[in-house]
Amino acid sequence: MKDCTSEQRRPKIRVAIIGAGIGGLSLSAALGALSNEDKLEINIYESASVIAEVGTGISLWPRTWEVVKAINLEKSLLQFVSQPPDKSPHVVFQMRKGDQKEGIFVHNILMEGRVVSFHRADLQQTLLNHVCGSLHLNHRFSSFEELDDEVNIRFDNGTTAKCDILIGMDGIKSTLRKSVLQQNIPSSESVNLVWSGTMVYRGLVGHLIMSPPWIKTR
Ligand SMILES: Cc1cc2nc3c(=O)[nH]c(=O)nc-3n(C[C@H](O)[C@H](O)[C@H](O)COP(=O)(O)OP(=O)(O)OC[C@H]3O[C@@H](n4cnc5c(N)ncnc54)[C@H](O)[C@@H]3O)c2cc1C
Repeated sequence: MKDCTSEQRRPKIRVAIIGAGIGGLSLSAALGALSNEDKLEINIYESASVIAEVGTGISLWPRTWEVVKAINLEKSLLQFVSQPPDKSPHVVFQMRKGDQKEGIFVHNILMEGRVVSFHRADLQQTLLNHVCGSLHLNHRFSSFEELDDEVNIRFDNGTTAKCDILIGMDGIKSTLRKSVLQQNIPSSESVNLVWSGTMVYRGLVGHLIMSPPWIKTR
């Protein structure tokens, strides 16, 4: 973890990030890579007691890969990639009619640059290695109070913190988003999450039964 808060590099702007998921960790790494570190004191507050490496795969699309490069993560992530992204067209989706055992090919969707897939744990660990600032586990955000020149943050464990910029990266059920809305637009329908009615079905296919062109391509 990089130290961006040392005495020699006196912090000026206090940034508090709530949530150390993929989003919070990426933001911290990006702030570290893109900003003048002397001017930032970054604190990340995570409710969990440990950053658990859970999940299966996660795919980064070409546009996201450009961001990866811009925030200096490319070298660390390439070790997990069998075929690095390039500028040539690749099949990123194959549309098939799948209501029978063999299925029927319908259409290939091509895109310049490869979709790069990772085990989620590898991506998360890489982001953790690039975290800029201090990570505080066991800190579940509960509320905030905006004062004239700073923000007071309260956590469920009874502690408090102060910052100049408060950023909610606490996931789809964000407590921070709810707090902001309750304080500023209490009548908003978005104060409480509403299911959109859209569902996604996902399935896993053993790689041994896949035909050779698809193995190790995505
Ligand atoms: C099955 C599945 C497959 C997916 N595949 C892909 C993919 O291939 N590519 C892709 O780009 N995206 C994919 N996604 C979406 C992606 O996983 C999410 O968009 C991403 O994880 C969101 O990251 P996040 O950091 O915003 O939230 P989260 O990952 O939910 O992280 C939020 C963090 O905040 C913490 N937190 C919550 N509340 C508080 C609180 N009050 N105080 C402090 N901390 C708190 C949580 O413990 C957690 O660590 C997939 C999602 C699913 C479900």
